[in-house]
Amino acid sequence: ADPKTTVNFALVGLGSLATNQIAPALQKTKHAKLVGVVTGTPSKEKVWADKYGIAKQNIYNYENFDKLAENGDIDVVYIVLPNGMHKEFTVRGAQAGKHVLCEKPMANNSDDCRAMIDACNTADRKLAIGYRCHFEPHHQHCIELARSEKFGELKAIEAGFGFKIGDPNQWRLKGDLAGGGAMMDVGVYALQACRYLTGEEPAEITAQETKTDMKKFAEVDETITWAMKMPSGVMCYCSTSYAFNGINRFNAYGEKGSFGLDPAFGYGGIKGKSSAGPIEFENVDQFAAEMDAFAKCILEDRQSTVSGEEGLRDLLAVEAIYESIRTGQRTKV
Ligand code: NDP
Repeated sequence: ADPKTTVNFALVGLGSLATNQIAPALQKTKHAKLVGVVTGTPSKEKVWADKYGIAKQNIYNYENFDKLAENGDIDVVYIVLPNGMHKEFTVRGAQAGKHVLCEKPMANNSDDCRAMIDACNTADRKLAIGYRCHFEPHHQHCIELARSEKFGELKAIEAGFGFKIGDPNQWRLKGDLAGGGAMMDVGVYALQACRYLTGEEPAEITAQETKTDMKKFAEVDETITWAMKMPSGVMCYCSTSYAFNGINRFNAYGEKGSFGLDPAFGYGGIKGKSSAGPIEFENVDQFAAEMDAFAKCILEDRQSTVSGEEGLRDLLAVEAIYESIRTGQRTKV
């Protein structure tokens, strides 16, 4: 028989991202195919079955999810649930014998990340986190500029991502479902950029938080600014916020020049420039690229570059940021 070239995906949680980005992206993927869904909303079952030709036996809910173990048609579960549910469904997915792609942030805390990694290792299943920017050509080019020291040794990075959050009743503002506020949701993009540009893990972090709406942000953070010192000495100055729109960028400064992206972290429309001129690439469907990359890891039995360990490293830095806010002290990661 011909070697397998396609991996079958089931989406878990049919919310905004699954509906508007991931399912459409799965119409463009070469190695990943949408064959199943898991939803807690019965009315979505028919809508998705009709739109994407999902077979009845490949439609699950959160209660009968573990029955996926008996379904040889589904290779991967892609967890697109609120952050606080990532751990449970990653662990149950692995125990049902499925590879797991899990959205960012990986989980509410580092202990949960470790439990997810352990469950996938025990079940001999692959685990990857939805860090789509790793598969985006502008970001990849900037990583290359940093590594090649085209503008000299890196000295500093500025990075920030935030937006004005709407509906006060959404899960993103609830501590147990979100794990945190702007920092967990979009601050991780700035944190990631610093980590993949330098290829280093932060050694020391100082952070502070500002809250202007105590009621709306009673359970999660609103605005955080933080500084990270990398072991090589690169200083990273970062920010994230749920209070206003506009910050969506990074800039990296070397001894002989600088480069950066603005806007940097959207699904498209990414623009960049360096001391040498514009940074121009075609915008790609980052979700399609991310899913094809994970499918290839499974087909070729390789570990993903955006593995569970990569997600854990972000959570360790996020915990150090929260710790620094709590104590008012510089925190080691
Ligand atoms: P939504 O609120 O739009 O969707 C979440 C879905 O999860 C719901 O529609 C529902 O689906 C299911 N769900 C199950 N239990 C609950 C619950 N208690 N409360 C709310 N929803 C529940 O969220 P998003 O799609 O925006 O985000 C989902 C995940 O994707 C998050 O982890 C987020 O961080 C990540 N994300 C990543 C992005 C990226 O660029 N990589 C961008 C946006 C989000 P159902 O009705 O089918 O059960």
